[in-house]
Amino acid sequence: MSGFSVAINPATGEEIGRHNHHTPERVAAMIDLAHAAYKKWRSVDINERSRLMSRLSDVLEAKRETYAVVMTAEVGKPIVEARAEVDKCAWVCRYYAENAASMLADRHIDTERRSFVHHEPLGVVLAVMPWNFPFWQVFRFLAPALLAGNTGILKHASNVPGSALAIEEAVIEAGFPREVFQAVLIPGGRVAEIVDHPAVVAATLTGSEGAGASLAERCGARLKKVVLELGGSDPYLVLEDADIELAASTCAKSRVINSGQSCIAAKRFIVHDAVYDEFVERFTANMAQLNVGDPTDEATQVGPQARHDLRDELHGQVEASVAAGARIILGGEIPDGPGAYYPPTVLVDVAEGMPAYDEELFGPVAAVIRVLSEEEAIGVANDTRFGLGAAVFTRDLARGERIAAEEIEAGTCVVNTSVASDPRLPFGGIKMSGFGRELSDLGIREFVNQKTVIVNQ
Ligand code: NAP
Repeated sequence: MSGFSVAINPATGEEIGRHNHHTPERVAAMIDLAHAAYKKWRSVDINERSRLMSRLSDVLEAKRETYAVVMTAEVGKPIVEARAEVDKCAWVCRYYAENAASMLADRHIDTERRSFVHHEPLGVVLAVMPWNFPFWQVFRFLAPALLAGNTGILKHASNVPGSALAIEEAVIEAGFPREVFQAVLIPGGRVAEIVDHPAVVAATLTGSEGAGASLAERCGARLKKVVLELGGSDPYLVLEDADIELAASTCAKSRVINSGQSCIAAKRFIVHDAVYDEFVERFTANMAQLNVGDPTDEATQVGPQARHDLRDELHGQVEASVAAGARIILGGEIPDGPGAYYPPTVLVDVAEGMPAYDEELFGPVAAVIRVLSEEEAIGVANDTRFGLGAAVFTRDLARGERIAAEEIEAGTCVVNTSVASDPRLPFGGIKMSGFGRELSDLGIREFVNQKTVIVNQ
């Protein structure tokens, strides 16, 4: 079996890379090497593993521009955001290099006997990753998993082979043993052959619900642990006592981060009737002012969508929403010319039964929903199969905190700001947004055996 992946620059439509897929025999051999490497790597002192992770942080910082250019070419990410993404990867490496030893230290528990929880790595872990943050998604798995003593097999999205290989090279350049982290080049339909390999003990996937369900089913059949980070349709509640200027600018920025293609981008704007007109006017003005264009230009805020088919799918969701009664007050038309561009778009009169209400819109399209009360706002926010992030805008911080902590069904809920991942804080979802957590001390414990040890003294 063979085949190849083709990387297309979505800003120009030009082919920028073609990579042969690894054969099943090669994939099996790479996993065998990862397993052999694991047996040695797990015994390497955590301080040495941390030293290498700090070196990886240095490599990322030194080659920021090189890596940023790769991402911008492969997915059309605005170059300023691509540089920031490399910096964030350096941060997560540094964060775990400094904190992994204490996170994984034995945890003593007071019982009649000497008792403690000891953390051990699991083995070879598969990471199936998406294209939208081609470096960040990988590094937030890689840093904790490798520091815990596991080895990793990366199956990256087919449209970002250059990013996958650049990350593999960076790990080697930092001085890690070669087989501790390897990128396999295969299509999503062949992930099962990795899961089925006896040396692979666990898997994580960031991506769509369909891919997540498929991987979870395979892992379930083989009784292998799986962590899933899937889609979201994050609600942003704008209550009647909100600072509307803050809400309008924060909501617009969050809707268009990564050209709208972020799992935790703001997607549904649930606005109280008392401030609806003012919010919609200011929010739409913010969306209209954005610089859309060439992602290599430092002034660009919104680049093309990552692939033409994804842009067309997004437009189909907009058209179906309009056919069901939504109104476009900004954007909503595919521009002429090359590139997978889609303009910042605002849909109002959005209601149940429309794709803009029921589905994830993975692009710069905002769905605005009018509500008459806090209770209705919370009801609409939770009326989704997703549960990744959410935000509440109110000047009453106690009210915001109560709604965030107690009312909204999401893995992360913020007040008067936008949802963003942070190495120090747990990240993940509930409902169809997945299960398990990345980042923080919770993330590093996903792929370790938390072994209970009891000594009868
Ligand atoms: P996708 O199509 O699901 O692809 C993600 C990865 O899964 C790719 O490597 C893909 O490989 C692979 N894949 C596809 N079908 C598979 C299958 N049947 N079995 C196993 N693996 C399979 O998702 P995407 O379009 O790249 O990413 C967008 C989605 O990711 C959105 O829903 C977004 O919300 C979500 N996301 C979630 C988070 C989070 O942290 N929760 C973060 C970012 C993105 P191929 O490319 O070879 O098909």
